[in-house]
Amino acid sequence: VNVKGSALRARLQYAADKGEEASRLLLDHLSPSTRTLCETGLLVNGWYPFSAFVELNTALDRLFGQGDLSLCYEIGRYACDVNLKTLYKIFFRIGSVQFIVRRAAAAWRVNYDDGQMRVLAETNDWVHLRVTGVPAPHRAHCLSVKGWMVRAVELSGAQVIGLDERCRTLGDPECEFEFRWKKR
Ligand SMILES: [Zn+2]
Repeated sequence: VNVKGSALRARLQYAADKGEEASRLLLDHLSPSTRTLCETGLLVNGWYPFSAFVELNTALDRLFGQGDLSLCYEIGRYACDVNLKTLYKIFFRIGSVQFIVRRAAAAWRVNYDDGQMRVLAETNDWVHLRVTGVPAPHRAHCLSVKGWMVRAVELSGAQVIGLDERCRTLGDPECEFEFRWKKR
């Protein structure tokens, strides 16, 4: 699986928001190959290795979080603000929560060149999603996807009131999310 440059750039921007020192610190903690990628300028629409995406998330979590990957959830939320809002600006004003959730799931194909996020079942205040086709799932990625989806629900004017997750990295057969929300 390859990841879109815009997703990697959101991670660099997360550090940049904390200041120049934070950006430098992040670069210093990357492997030589990922560092070179980041320094030579990531193309918004370019495709980059999944491993570089995981590395950026885990490095940010070590440097600015608790080192337990929980920051990856926050980074996913941040990336949703930065990227999904730009992509579907108009829909956030006119769309229903259900509609936004579907768009957010469909944005999988914008962010990754393989795998998918499918809506298995839905009502007007609940959705059941499954992620498939990620050859080597990583908890940092799944937490980031979870943050992305929760933020999408919030941006559409609702509040997540229930969240159930199953994850291959936690021993479950599939990576799945169930969200329940209420309109604010
Ligand atoms: Zn997972």
